Amino acid sequence: MDLQNLLDDIVGAVQPLARQGAAADYIPSLASVDTSQFGISVATREGEVFSAGDADVAFSIQSISKVYALALVLARDGNSIWKRVFREPSGNPFNSLVQLEHEDGIPRNPFINAGALVVADRLLTVTGGSTTAVRELLREESGNFSIDSDPEVAASEARNSHRNTSLAHFLASYGNLENSVDDVLDAYIKQCALAMSCTDLALASRFLATNGLRADGTPLLSPPQTKRINAVMLTCGTYDAAGEFAYRVGLPGKSGVGGGIIAVVPNNCSICVWSPALGRSGNSVAGVAALDEFTTRTGWSIF
Ligand code: GLN
Repeated sequence: MDLQNLLDDIVGAVQPLARQGAAADYIPSLASVDTSQFGISVATREGEVFSAGDADVAFSIQSISKVYALALVLARDGNSIWKRVFREPSGNPFNSLVQLEHEDGIPRNPFINAGALVVADRLLTVTGGSTTAVRELLREESGNFSIDSDPEVAASEARNSHRNTSLAHFLASYGNLENSVDDVLDAYIKQCALAMSCTDLALASRFLATNGLRADGTPLLSPPQTKRINAVMLTCGTYDAAGEFAYRVGLPGKSGVGGGIIAVVPNNCSICVWSPALGRSGNSVAGVAALDEFTTRTGWSIF
């Protein structure tokens, strides 16, 4: 398999789609990104990286950060998080409020906003209040120690976080937060505002393709824990479009409203695609098309 040729081909095929859809604008600073950009990177389980297009441009990882927060909580705290968050697809938008009331304050899964707030809360507790645990993991796994939260994106989200603030208060009213609403929102917004490139994210996600082994060869997660995160990514990682994503791509994946998507071919490689224009469910249009093309042409799908 000549991966480099394949990625170059995919850029040619998908670039024209890059302007389909629209950049997220409910976080105003994400709306100003040039939507013609498209990048793709693949990191093999051995650590080799292949990239094409705008693979080295940093973008806002947003909800992709939810995967690493969950990985850290499972690694440090085991399965107790599953008493506070379910693991079923939501069938609702990622920031829906109604479902949380119907289900008595237990979010449907860790990848919708309500569930990610519960995970961020637990991570704050197990790290003794650190808001940089996700950043440190991503720095170490990617080898890029300049990765940081973009303060402008964080401030922009903080000024416009009425929905997440509502969700957090709702969780607190059901007794499903351990820390203050303000502290949880601050940690959550900082992890979402991390700026990384496709190359950074493909490398940082490699532990999901290596049965939980970190870049230095030590275990972050056990193989069964890794299997379970990949399973939740498959069923819940692209929100209300998880069925369509499984149908087209056939891999565990996690998207963010910055236009990035990570995907995992277990025991083989981790992939990151990025293009800022989103479709109705909040997933990058060109990104999903690129992953569809990648798995169709390589045959590397879990199905
Ligand atoms: N920070 C964003 C939010 O909370 C993340 C959403 C996303 O990427 N889907 O709304």
